[in-house]
Amino acid sequence: MEKKKGKAIVVGGSIAGLSCAHSLTLAGWDVLVLEKSSEPPTRSPTGAGLGLDSQVRQIIKSWLPHPHLLDEITLPLSIDQNQVTDSEKKGTRILTRDENFDFRAAYWADIHSLLYNALPQTMFLWGHKFLSFTMSQDESTVKVQTLVMETQETVEIQGDLLVAADGCLSSIRKTFLPDFKLRYSGYCAWRGIFDFSGNEKSETVTGIKKEYPDLGKCLYFDLGEKTHSVFYELINKKLNWIWYVNQPEPDLKGNSVTMKVSQGMINEMHQEAETIWIPDLARLMKETNDPFLNVIYDCDPLEQFFWGNVVLVGDAAHPTTPHGLRSTNMSVLDAEVLGKCLEKCGPENLSLGLEEYQRIRLPVVAEQVFYARRLGRVKQGLDRDGTGLEQRNMPFFSSAPLV
Ligand SMILES: Cc1cc2nc3c(=O)[nH]c(=O)nc-3n(C[C@H](O)[C@H](O)[C@H](O)COP(=O)(O)OP(=O)(O)OC[C@H]3O[C@@H](n4cnc5c(N)ncnc54)[C@H](O)[C@@H]3O)c2cc1C
Repeated sequence: MEKKKGKAIVVGGSIAGLSCAHSLTLAGWDVLVLEKSSEPPTRSPTGAGLGLDSQVRQIIKSWLPHPHLLDEITLPLSIDQNQVTDSEKKGTRILTRDENFDFRAAYWADIHSLLYNALPQTMFLWGHKFLSFTMSQDESTVKVQTLVMETQETVEIQGDLLVAADGCLSSIRKTFLPDFKLRYSGYCAWRGIFDFSGNEKSETVTGIKKEYPDLGKCLYFDLGEKTHSVFYELINKKLNWIWYVNQPEPDLKGNSVTMKVSQGMINEMHQEAETIWIPDLARLMKETNDPFLNVIYDCDPLEQFFWGNVVLVGDAAHPTTPHGLRSTNMSVLDAEVLGKCLEKCGPENLSLGLEEYQRIRLPVVAEQVFYARRLGRVKQGLDRDGTGLEQRNMPFFSSAPLV
């Protein structure tokens, strides 16, 4: 007799949702992913750069039919370097340098495509916006109401498990925690990707490579007075930069932490960059097309990650500041642990599996969220005391407990 398969409905088709689609399929579940975006973001230059630790790279590879592709779309980040910028003399001085960093840098859209293309496309309903859900009294089934964006019809889908992978502003989390609020960090991040393909010998590129000789293998942090920036290379001749700026909380419109920016705001950012950063970095920021602004939030750790047969993963479970390069790594680990716990307990013992997932992941991400917060505050000059500057001090750095 074949065992009954559980059916999981995953809301959110970004990194956490795709990772759960892999891990739950491997655990023997049927999976359906609902995503409000109308199509997969494969060919669009959505998002920017991220760093993957060695444990997470191993997990991703275990999900892929062609694991070597992960190495092909990433560049090594074998050095983690913090340096201080003297804004008056326009020079830098190294503070810390870790040459055994062992991360790899990827373009968000490339990781997304890699995970997506290794799954059957029938598993996805694009252009489906999650609206609400009802749980059966015995918590064994869940009915999800979803809006088909193209036709504006509402459709009901039934499953045994609802996975909330709907990001840091999760509406599923809101049904259990109606008073929940994100915590504004005190700063926003300007971000940009400088594309130098075809311009390898330009003055900007020659200048920047002289100032940052380890580009292509180094994660650079530049520390200024009450500000800091992050700089590293991605494949296909792209340079990724992030610059954190202390400011009052902006008034966010809509359901996104990325703000629309005016040309006036961009011009001001360019002028400010010239007063703080060395000329080559300021020039690169100025020559970057379409920079964008992220408002940086996190939240104190939640007390639980599941209610009945509804479970949170990724940014929905633990919004975090980006200073420990964690959110993508956390999402992959959540999915891996969730899959293994459900496989071990079987769909008939779902609550045991969810309890184990929560027991393993909650304390780990709680420490990591607090650590990333402290690291950000120290680098932004908001706290004097707190932590060392190196990434390696992150709790569970590339060795989070598995099942
Ligand atoms: C387009 C995009 C680009 C990004 N680029 C970067 C990057 O360059 N670098 C980086 O470090 N991080 C980036 N991130 C964030 C990164 O993916 C996350 O911080 C992290 O990986 C955790 O992912 P997540 O899946 O939990 O959340 P998210 O990536 O925020 O994904 C949540 C998903 O849920 C979907 N969703 C939300 N509400 C609903 C609903 N009601 N119905 C259906 N679907 C819903 C959203 O459309 C989204 O696809 C990006 C995220 C997105 C969505």
